[in-house]
Amino acid sequence: MKTTVLLEELQQEELRPAQYYREYEQLLRKDFRNLLSKGKVAWIERNCPGCGAIELPQAFEKDDFDFRRCPHCNTLFVSPVPDQSVMDFIATQGESTRFLKSTFSSQLRTARYRHVLNSLLLWMVTTLDLYGISTGTYCACGSDDPGWMDIVCQESLFENIIAIRLNKNDFTDQPPPYKIVNHISMVPEQLDVISAFGILNKLSDPVGFIDQVLKKLVNGGVLFISAACNGFEYQVLERDAPNLLPLDRLTLFSTEALKGILEERGLKVLEISTPGRFDVGTVRDYAQKNQQSLKSPFWDYLFMHGDDRCLSQFQLFLQEHRLSSYLRMVARKES
Ligand SMILES: [Zn+2]
Repeated sequence: MKTTVLLEELQQEELRPAQYYREYEQLLRKDFRNLLSKGKVAWIERNCPGCGAIELPQAFEKDDFDFRRCPHCNTLFVSPVPDQSVMDFIATQGESTRFLKSTFSSQLRTARYRHVLNSLLLWMVTTLDLYGISTGTYCACGSDDPGWMDIVCQESLFENIIAIRLNKNDFTDQPPPYKIVNHISMVPEQLDVISAFGILNKLSDPVGFIDQVLKKLVNGGVLFISAACNGFEYQVLERDAPNLLPLDRLTLFSTEALKGILEERGLKVLEISTPGRFDVGTVRDYAQKNQQSLKSPFWDYLFMHGDDRCLSQFQLFLQEHRLSSYLRMVARKES
């Protein structure tokens, strides 16, 4: 099985500047508070989405959300969760989503193309080529970055392209060169390639979503996934992890749990990687700001005294051993 490691050095500030992230965080909380105050939030209790384990106790609480940690599959998840209509409303009409998309299209556009979108496209192109996958019909399930569809269309890789988007305001200028449907169940045809970039974490029922996606995938077709996962940052910092925004991280699968979910459904996993590059920088910043509060003398020592080379190699180690907090996975539906 393939494991990708990204060697390029990258500072979190370049891709995710603190000032924008803080504003996004505040808007996300505001969107949710508005829905709460109107009585529009229904809550759903759930078992472990990674393995189905029941009645797991609360591990910690953050922003009034209960997080649970599964001892069997190492998935970290919120339960109860807001129902999917709440998440759909935020994803399509929330101020936070509008802000994110507009920032990705303007101030962060160059950095996103250089470090995220081109990298995802290269990964997709090389994987399809490596495994000889048909490039007939492609469907993109959700993307916070409007630039993704542009870059896919420019590549002319697929014969037909479909986007699952709910927000008509994304397309006010002119009709895009691809079909848009509101939900995966409404896709009229069978799909050769499906991508789910950055959305599994934000769904109330990510496994139900995977089941719906797989109904549309042809035998021999592939599913590309990128998502935050329960890697180093979240395991070391837990509730204090700066990227642990509950509504954006309702589920953090472990790589093993997600692999198990796909294999149980008859898919062959072709690649699992955790090419995340920010774990070490995030934990180091936390340790320095909070003066040795990692609850472990070794981690405190490493992050207070480790030099740049040591920490850079540690991040590479996390990538190589699939311990980072951002995963990529490719799985093929077996005929
Ligand atoms: Zn579990």
